[in-house]
Amino acid sequence: MRGREGTGRTFTMALLVAAAACSHPAPLVSRAPGTARSLVLRNVRVFDAPRATLADGLRDVRVRDGRIDAVGSPGLPSDGAPEIDGRGATLLPGLVDVHTHTGSSAYPPWRVVFPDVPENLAAFLYAGVTTVLDLGNLAPEVFRERSRVATGAHLGPHLYAAGPVFTAPGGHPAEVLRAWLPWYLRWYVLPRATREVSTPEEARQAVAALLPERPDVLKIAVDARTGDVPCLAPETFAAITAAGHAAGVRSIVHIGSSQEAIDAVRGGADALAHAPWREELSPEALQVIAGAHVPVVVTLAIWDLAGTPRTAASEFLPIEREVARPEVLTALLAAPPTLDAGTAAFVRAAAGAHDARRRNVAKLRAAGVPVLAGSDACNPGDLPGAGLHLELAKLVEAGLTPGEALRAATWENARFLAGEKADFGEIAVGKRADLVLVDGDPVARIGDLGKIAHVVLDGALLARRPRP
Ligand SMILES: [Zn+2]
Repeated sequence: MRGREGTGRTFTMALLVAAAACSHPAPLVSRAPGTARSLVLRNVRVFDAPRATLADGLRDVRVRDGRIDAVGSPGLPSDGAPEIDGRGATLLPGLVDVHTHTGSSAYPPWRVVFPDVPENLAAFLYAGVTTVLDLGNLAPEVFRERSRVATGAHLGPHLYAAGPVFTAPGGHPAEVLRAWLPWYLRWYVLPRATREVSTPEEARQAVAALLPERPDVLKIAVDARTGDVPCLAPETFAAITAAGHAAGVRSIVHIGSSQEAIDAVRGGADALAHAPWREELSPEALQVIAGAHVPVVVTLAIWDLAGTPRTAASEFLPIEREVARPEVLTALLAAPPTLDAGTAAFVRAAAGAHDARRRNVAKLRAAGVPVLAGSDACNPGDLPGAGLHLELAKLVEAGLTPGEALRAATWENARFLAGEKADFGEIAVGKRADLVLVDGDPVARIGDLGKIAHVVLDGALLARRPRP
């Protein structure tokens, strides 16, 4: 979501990230040059992601040159690699978040703050999120960042990116950006953050112009919000998905209602970036989604945060407090200004559908629709990395078992991004060694997921520093 509640403004400031990055305090994570990419984790409980449960007994997991090299009974030879005793802890695959905006900021919408991309990327890693899909950001900037992360020039989670959001002229999120952005940023941000297209031909041209950047998916938005926001005509929508499919690129679609979900699936959507946020799924919508085997990133957290912002520091998870700058929490807890009528209507709609959104999760699960896990961070109140922990807690509240929520955030998300042969999202020989070691048992208590002892990225143990 990029809501009237403010993503627009924060999202915009990515152009000034370089300046913000110069004044960094000690980063949340770092990787010393020349860090070994081999190690042995001993005596750990292993999360069996495909089965959504713990493997029997304790294991040693050996990593060599960034890959999992052996998983076996305690006592595996270390071959000289550094060892970590993980007794009492649980080892999970690095978490995967398939709905993020790495160039936004979690400040409330009425605060003008420059997003800090390096800090956002560090926060994802700090919280054990080692792969993210960015579903809306400035282009080409986000594709350049993807390259810098891939080459190791920047430290961050493996980054997949959609780039701009395809929408109708004045459609979501363009209407939000226009409402929030000061005039001197509008001209810069709008054409980079969105592709406003009004005909099938314009749609095809816009997709063709983006393809040289190699977007990992196309992001399309169809959301009338509380009634007055323009949406793409069906033939224009279908032209976008078809142009993507012709190039082997899938489309993931932001929707807000059952009818929008139906239209998106019939128009060629490969996945939904939200379940309906403002109402309960209709039987027809459920049937259409299930019949097309379209996965849904349900995103409970962001709509809860939009509808019912937190009012006390104690409402934040410990891991959220660890990644957030104190001034962000202070700003989020400060009394909001008087909301304009449109924003107030949006907030009421988001708050009013709280229970419906939980029923939607239960319905999708019962219908066998793959439920994927996405935080929608860094929207207001939704902190990078820690937002996925919040989302998983809410999925459990909505009826998933902790194991199912963790499977969504690892194996299911990995397969969505990289197919059946994804080389991450699972602890098995040959997989990429992106790992999270957690004190406790998050398969029994999802809250234990925040008790992170170590994060391993590509076989390298990261140094993690909570804020002082
Ligand atoms: Zn979003």
